[in-house]
Amino acid sequence: MVFKLAFNMENFDILLESSAAAHGHICPGQAVGVRMAMLGCRLIGLDKPTSRDQIKKLLVYVEMDRCTADAVAHVTGVKLGRRSLKFVDYGIMAATFVNLETNIYDAETEKLIWSGLSDTVVGGSNEVEIKSFIKRIVGVFQHT
Ligand SMILES: [Zn+2]
Repeated sequence: MVFKLAFNMENFDILLESSAAAHGHICPGQAVGVRMAMLGCRLIGLDKPTSRDQIKKLLVYVEMDRCTADAVAHVTGVKLGRRSLKFVDYGIMAATFVNLETNIYDAETEKLIWSGLSDTVVGGSNEVEIKSFIKRIVGVFQHT
């Protein structure tokens, strides 16, 4: 049995070396993907996304299917087979990080706007999830 230690998300050099080893070579996509993963996880409050207590909280949508996606997946531990990695082919270099324990509330009404545990994540296709997420989140910001 192989155990993977939770990465320290603060050390770019170690993350890059590990990601390049897993990917098969070092390339610009590895550097960008490691940086994207570090920033994305930091912004949603996950400091050790591969750790046992955080691995199930993370969902990542990647919009590129090249080297950078491998780096994001390696550093964060998300996987297609685990349904924690979603590939959306918009052909751009982008990734969206979602902490499934995050709830978003309307500041004025305190009404729940979106929850990672809502129907946007459970079941349905990627397209359904993404449309639901965009409709709820972007719609809220358009009305503020
Ligand atoms: Zn590469």
